[in-house]
Amino acid sequence: MLFILAIVTFKDFNFNEQLAEGVQSMGYNTPTAIQAQAIPVILAGKDIIACAQTGTGKTASYLLPVLNGISNSGHGHQISTLILGPTRELVQQIDQQVEGLAYFTEVSSLAVYGGGDGMAYEQQKRGIQNNVDIVIATPGRLISFLTSGALKLNHLKYFVLDEADRMLDMGFFQDIMRIITYLPANRQTLLFSATMPGKIRTLARSILKNPEQINIAISQPAVGISQQIYKVHDAQKTKLIEVLLRSGLYTSTIIFASTKEKVKALAKDLKAAHINAEAFHSDMNQGEREEVLLNFKNRQLPVVIGTDALSRGIDVEGIDLVINYDVPGDPEDYIHRIGRTARAATTGTAVTLVNRNDERRLANIQALIDKKIEEITLPADIGAIPEQKPQFDNRRKGGRRPQRKGGSGAKGQSQGKK
Ligand code: AMP
Repeated sequence: MLFILAIVTFKDFNFNEQLAEGVQSMGYNTPTAIQAQAIPVILAGKDIIACAQTGTGKTASYLLPVLNGISNSGHGHQISTLILGPTRELVQQIDQQVEGLAYFTEVSSLAVYGGGDGMAYEQQKRGIQNNVDIVIATPGRLISFLTSGALKLNHLKYFVLDEADRMLDMGFFQDIMRIITYLPANRQTLLFSATMPGKIRTLARSILKNPEQINIAISQPAVGISQQIYKVHDAQKTKLIEVLLRSGLYTSTIIFASTKEKVKALAKDLKAAHINAEAFHSDMNQGEREEVLLNFKNRQLPVVIGTDALSRGIDVEGIDLVINYDVPGDPEDYIHRIGRTARAATTGTAVTLVNRNDERRLANIQALIDKKIEEITLPADIGAIPEQKPQFDNRRKGGRRPQRKGGSGAKGQSQGKK
C-alpha cells in the first residue's frame, strides 16, 4: 500500500550523495506518504510515534534519515542504531533494505536473531565485535547478548521499534523494557506500529520524549488488490485452489491457512496433485524456512503455504495471488494477508474461501474495510455452493468492531477513516 505524495521529492531531504545514490539504485522515485511525513521529523532529531503498516514504505522512512545521520557523522565505530523487530524474517528483511540503501555509504549492519544453532550465535557475536553501525534484532536474542556483556549500547543514538504492536502481541513488553535499561537516556526513539491499541500508547509514554505523531490512513487494503470470495464447503477448498493455480493467470501465489496442521495438509494435497507448492511453518528449522522463502523470492517456487506468521513483513515483489484457505478470525490479519500482493503500487488478486461458519468473520472484515467483497460463483465442476446463513452486514454500524484475540478489542480504533 504505497501512498505517493507528488509534492515532495527525495531531493528535498538533502541526503548525502552516497545515500541519494542508494535511493536511486533501489528504484525509489518519489517518497511515499509515510516517508514524506516521517523523514523531515526524524532528520530534525525528534522522537516519533508512527502508525503505518508494512507495505507503506515505512522501513525506508526511518532507515533513510538514520543512514543519513550515521554516514554524515563519519562513523564512530560504535553501534549507533538499534532496530528491534518481532520476527527473524522481518529482521532479515530490514537488514536487506539497509544493505540496498546503504550500498554506496560505509554504514554497516548486522542482523541478530534466535533460532539458529550455536554457530549462528557465535557468528552474530563476532559480527557485533566488528563494530557495526546498526544492529537489527529480535528482543530475545538481543537480551542474551546484552546480559552476557557481548553487546554494549552505551553510545546508541537511534532506537527504532518496528511493528511494536506485533512485539507486544508476542509478549515482548518486559523484554523491551529491559533492553531500554541498557540504552543511554539521550537518544532518538522512533516507534512504528500498524495499530495503536492502548498498550502501545502506554509504551510510547514511557519511552518517547515529546514525540511527533504521524498517522497514515490504514486498515484499508491497497486499491490495486482485486478482492474476491468464494462460498465453499471445506471439502471443496483444495479442488478450487487447484483450479485457481492451474488457471495460468498467476505466477506467484501465497496461500494462508489458520493452523500449521492445515498448512501441512494442504501442501501435501497440492504436491500429490503435482502442483509445485511448499509449506512454511514453525515446525520447520530456520534453514528450511529460509530455503522456501528464497526459492519463492527467486521465482523457482510458484506457491507457498503458511500461517499468519508469513503475513507480516514478508516483502516479496510480484505476488499476484493471495488465497485465504480460511477466513482469519482477526480482520486486521485479513488486511495483512492480502497486503502481500499489490506491493509497491502494483495490482494483485486476493481470494478468500468462505464456509458457512465463516460468515460472521467475513462480515467483520467487510465492516473493517467498509466494503462488500465481490462473490465469485464456484466453477461448475467443483459442485454446489453451500446454503447461506442469514447475511451479516456489519458495515458502518459503529460499536460492532470485532474483539481482538486475547486483547481489549481496542486494536485499530485510532485508525479511523477521516
Ligand atoms: P515497507 O512498507 O517498508 O515494507 O515497504 C514496502 C515495499 O515498498 C518495499 O519493497 C520497499 O522496497 C518499497 N518502497 C519503499 N519506499 C518506496 C518508494 N519511495 N518508492 C517505491 N518503492 C518503495
